[in-house]
Amino acid sequence: MNESRYDSIRGSVNYSEVRCVEVAVIGAGISGLAVADQLIRAGLSVCVLEARARVGGRLLGSPFDLGASWFWPGEHRVMALTQRLAIETFEQYRIGDALIDDIAGLQRYPGNPIDVPSYRIAGGTSALAAALTADLPSGTLHLKQPVHEITSELHIAAREHRWQAHHVVIALPPSLAVNAIKLPPELPEELTDVAARTPVWMGDSVKVVAHFKEPFWRRDGLAGAAISRRGPLAELHDMSGPGGEPAALFGFVRAASMHDDIEFEIREQLIRMFGTRASEPIDVLIQDWSREQWTVPPGTYGLPDYAKFGHSIYQQPALAGRLHWSSTETAPTYAGHIEGALAAAERTVTSILGSCVVKN
Ligand SMILES: Cc1cc2nc3c(=O)[nH]c(=O)nc-3n(C[C@H](O)[C@H](O)[C@H](O)COP(=O)(O)OP(=O)(O)OC[C@H]3O[C@@H](n4cnc5c(N)ncnc54)[C@H](O)[C@@H]3O)c2cc1C
Repeated sequence: MNESRYDSIRGSVNYSEVRCVEVAVIGAGISGLAVADQLIRAGLSVCVLEARARVGGRLLGSPFDLGASWFWPGEHRVMALTQRLAIETFEQYRIGDALIDDIAGLQRYPGNPIDVPSYRIAGGTSALAAALTADLPSGTLHLKQPVHEITSELHIAAREHRWQAHHVVIALPPSLAVNAIKLPPELPEELTDVAARTPVWMGDSVKVVAHFKEPFWRRDGLAGAAISRRGPLAELHDMSGPGGEPAALFGFVRAASMHDDIEFEIREQLIRMFGTRASEPIDVLIQDWSREQWTVPPGTYGLPDYAKFGHSIYQQPALAGRLHWSSTETAPTYAGHIEGALAAAERTVTSILGSCVVKN
């Protein structure tokens, strides 16, 4: 680090207590990790402060995805990242008929109109976060360090340490940031207002993965794709790995429908729809994102205004170009997707590298 850049800081803080970096990234989801990766490659000093004891945020689970699973044709940032990191991808299994489950009974729908062409990542999307993390210089990532305050001078208070940065990147959902972090009072009211009303993508979802010994539905000519109006899983898809190994189906339940007996009902539903061979899953994994403190602020899931995604106010850094918004919700394209998180990271990196700090 070129310490001369911090002359102005040095006068105002006690170095025995404050750690200095050029850029502090808050959140080690895919967006924050991508920002850190690119800035470090450009030669900046960076710390990544992560609240959880793990990286990845809404990328969770291996080999089964309990957060994001797919990326789609045209999402070139995700594709490029998998290629750079030498991460294996494969096509989502779509071959066979779909099922429609409603009160009239179970219908087999010829062909599969439910699954669109998409790609998956072998070992789960968390492999992206793991690979980016492995490339970070030691001492960059700080786990179990929820940030609770950012001051006007860009002092950052995390659980164990205070940091001083020239740029701060808020790489977590905006509504969570305004709820959990005391932000500088100079931030425009419109910004904090938009942030408070920006929904968290998939923050009201519960993802369920049923792991089986083999993908028996494929032998019956079924794609594993289904729509159910009876529930509790409203839609289902094949979640097996490459070549059907390991074998799994997954589905979503709305968080509002959760109750103590949900796993029993899910198991009954699987048998009703896929027959007795579905009666003995190796495991049923249930991930309720609405209860995740570091994804969704309390009382806000179900915010309705998705038009706030990619709002123009997120596209310009605040505080004289030093405070940046970088979660997927802030991306003007592909917001909500991994691709959006990478697009937001790209904008943040361009903005920071274009700023005067780097031109010194
Ligand atoms: C069930 C589900 C299914 C999905 N399916 C898909 C899919 O198939 N395809 C797709 O493209 N996308 C999908 N998504 C969305 C995708 O997961 C997200 O777009 C992406 O992971 C968001 O990355 P992010 O870095 O912007 O935010 P996050 O992953 O939310 O990362 C934010 C990070 O900030 C940390 N943090 C929070 N508060 C603090 C704090 N105060 N201090 C420090 N750190 C903090 C969090 O712990 C987290 O690590 C899905 C999401 C879910 C939940």
